[in-house]
Amino acid sequence: MYIYADHAATTKTSETAKQAMIACMDAYYGNPSSLHTEGQRAAEQLLKAREQAADLLGADPKEIYFTSGGSEADNQAILSAAYFGKRKGKNHIISTAFEHHAVLHTLKKLEWEGFEITLLDVHENGIVTPQQVADAIREDTALVTIMYANNEIGTIQPIREIGAICREKNVPFHTDAVQAVGHIPVNVEKDNVDMLSLSAHKFRGPKGVGILYAKKGMPLVNVIEGGAQERGKRAGTENLPAIVGMVAALKEALDGMEQDALAISAMRDQLIDGLSEIPLSRLNGDREHRLPGTVNFVFEGIEGESLLLHLDNRGIAASSGSACTSGSLDPSHVLLALGLPHEVAHGSLRLSIDAENTPEEMDYIIKSVKEVVEYLRGMSPVWEKIEKGQQESFFAK
Ligand SMILES: *Cc1c(COP(=O)(O)O)cnc(C)c1O
Repeated sequence: MYIYADHAATTKTSETAKQAMIACMDAYYGNPSSLHTEGQRAAEQLLKAREQAADLLGADPKEIYFTSGGSEADNQAILSAAYFGKRKGKNHIISTAFEHHAVLHTLKKLEWEGFEITLLDVHENGIVTPQQVADAIREDTALVTIMYANNEIGTIQPIREIGAICREKNVPFHTDAVQAVGHIPVNVEKDNVDMLSLSAHKFRGPKGVGILYAKKGMPLVNVIEGGAQERGKRAGTENLPAIVGMVAALKEALDGMEQDALAISAMRDQLIDGLSEIPLSRLNGDREHRLPGTVNFVFEGIEGESLLLHLDNRGIAASSGSACTSGSLDPSHVLLALGLPHEVAHGSLRLSIDAENTPEEMDYIIKSVKEVVEYLRGMSPVWEKIEKGQQESFFAK
């Protein structure tokens, strides 16, 4: 048995997306910038993909910029608002402590350049309130950037309400919607966003391609300089097969979203109920406002890394949180932002499932996690102290 439960890290490219890509590579190999017929045939396909993507997101085709993925879209959105804000004397950016590193590291860079960054605290339930944003906005705020759904714990933020506040105060609003698009309803118009990032490989599209949505009138700086592709805002010959594959995957994900979400969230709840039976454990993030497929737990007294390796040996692919932090021994910045102490945050497990998983697989995961946690606790000096009453459990407080 092999169970893939790490869909928040990446998904398997869907058959539909793959076939669309192969067909595109076979039939449209021209460079969309070429003036000859072969080039113009490719340009037509590119336009078609742009129109379809816009339609699926509630945008205008001129507001769609194809990028190399979520990271690039995040970088471009944030740098654009920062540099254009600066021209108007605005030097302040608001975000949260639990963003993806594509956002946090871009903000770090801007801080070195002299911008003032406010990272809002996240409540214990993993949700930022619109009031926190309203209170943080100043005269000199150039941008608010808050993720739609968190990639480690799966909590969904009140994006529409935050967007309305930013509109009212005339502050550009960007959301990293990489975990949301294709999984929960997203519409740039209704959600009051000025810029939005998405990535194809998180909804069964190919890797290395994404979209930056930028509302008409939002000025952009280039992250990649060169030719005049993407209306001069993103140079480089367009990755047409990947773009076509992404749009096919997006359409497929949205067509099946409602039905898939029901099946997936039932399995998610099965996981939550089963894993909650483990003593001194906790579901991280609000139980209600969460993605259909993402679950994150901490188990006191164990190391998440060891748990992952044991699960892998049993044929279960999971994660301790962000794929981007694996390899480093620091606990997840997301869990620390929720207020968990270092030693507890170390014992984290993220399971992210999709419609191809089954309830039987959930049973196997629950059984395996229970056994492995018990085994690891049996060898854990921290657990021994807790059991002997020499150390107070975090959850007992
Ligand atoms: C995966 C992810 C990204 C990065 O997207 P890439 O296409 O891999 O660059 C950014 N933000 C969030 C929330 C993500 O989950």
